[in-house]
Amino acid sequence: MRREANQGPAPARVVVTGAAGFIGSHLVEALLADGITVVGVDRRAPRLDPAAAANLGAVLGHPDFTLVTADLQSCALTPLFQQADAVLHFAALPGVRDSWGEPFAEYTACNVFATERVLSACEDAHVPRLVYASSSSVYGTRNGATHEESAPRPASPYAVSKLAGEQLCLAHAGKTTSTLTAVALRLFTVYGPRQRPDMLIGRALTAALGGPELSLYGDGSHERDFTYVGDVVRAATTAATRRIGTTVLNVGAGVSTSVLDVLSAVEELTGHPVPLKRLPAQPGDVDATLADRSRAAALLDWKPRTALLEGISHQLRHLTAADPLRP
Ligand code: NAD
Repeated sequence: MRREANQGPAPARVVVTGAAGFIGSHLVEALLADGITVVGVDRRAPRLDPAAAANLGAVLGHPDFTLVTADLQSCALTPLFQQADAVLHFAALPGVRDSWGEPFAEYTACNVFATERVLSACEDAHVPRLVYASSSSVYGTRNGATHEESAPRPASPYAVSKLAGEQLCLAHAGKTTSTLTAVALRLFTVYGPRQRPDMLIGRALTAALGGPELSLYGDGSHERDFTYVGDVVRAATTAATRRIGTTVLNVGAGVSTSVLDVLSAVEELTGHPVPLKRLPAQPGDVDATLADRSRAAALLDWKPRTALLEGISHQLRHLTAADPLRP
C-alpha cells in the first residue's frame, strides 16, 4: 500500500474474509507484503480443500498471518475483529448460474445473513472501515458504461444477494450511532492466477491446454469488462485506507471484450484451439458489462494497469507452472 497525504495512518491489522478464495488470497498476499498483520477467515480449510491450500500456499506459515477456519454464519466474529483497522469482506457464494431456486437459501445465508453478521461485529469491535466486494451484476443488462448512480437491475438471485449485501453496508454505515464507514466495490469480472475454476478465462486456458472442452453458453457475442486481480487488490487496499466516506465504487477495467475475442486471445497465447461445447445462453447471464470508472479514479486515484492480453498471459504462466505436465 503506497502511503499518500490523503490516506489515514498505515493499518497494522486487517481482517480478510474469504481469505482462501481467489481474490481473498491475493489480498492476503498483498497485505502481508506491505508488512500488515492479517487475520484471514474462511470456511474452507486448506488441510481438507486442495483449492484453498493452493490459493494460500504462499502465505500459510507466514508469521504475520493467522487463518481462522470458520463459517461467517455462526462463528464469534467480534473477538476476531478487535483491534482491526479494516475488514475486507470478500467471502461470498459466487456465480450467477447456480443461484436460482433451492440453492438461493445458501446464497442468502452466505451473502446476506453473513454480511449482516460481519457488519454488526464491525460495529461491536469499533472497526473504522469495511470494504465490501460487491459485483457489477447488480446493474443487470445495460447498453454502454454503467455509473454508480445507474439504477440497479439485478438479473439473477446472486446479483440480488450482492445488492442486498451492499445495501446492508450502507444501512450500517448510515446509522447515526455508527463510526463505521463502508466502501462497496462493484467488481467487474475478475481474472488472473488462481481464478475460480468455474470462470471463463481459466476454463478456456485449461481447454486449450488439453483439459475438458469449454462449455460456451450462448453464441459468444456477449461482452465482459475483464479486470485483472492485481488491479482489484490495489483498489481494495486503497479503499481500506483512503480518507473517503461511505460510498459505492465501480472497479472495472473500462474495456468491454466479447467472449469470442477472449477465446481468440487464449488461442493466440497458447498456440492451441479452444475446443468448445456449445450450450444455450443461461438465465441471469447479461449481454454486456462495462464500468464507468470515473468515481474510482476521482476517489481512489485508481486506474487499471494490466491489459487483457498481459493479464491472460500471467494466468497462463501460473497455470503451466502449477502443472508442468501440461503441453
Ligand atoms: P471465491 O469463491 O474464490 O472466494 C470466496 C470465499 O468465500 C471462498 O473461499 C469461500 O469458502 C468463502 N466463503 C463463502 N461463504 C462463506 C461463509 N459463510 N463463511 C466463511 N467463508 C465463506 O470467490 P472470488 O471469485 O474470490 O470472489 C470474492 C468476492 O468477490 C465475492 O464476494 C464475490 O461475490 C465478489 N466478486 C467476484 C467477482 C469475480 O469475478 N471473481 C466479480 C464480482 C464480485
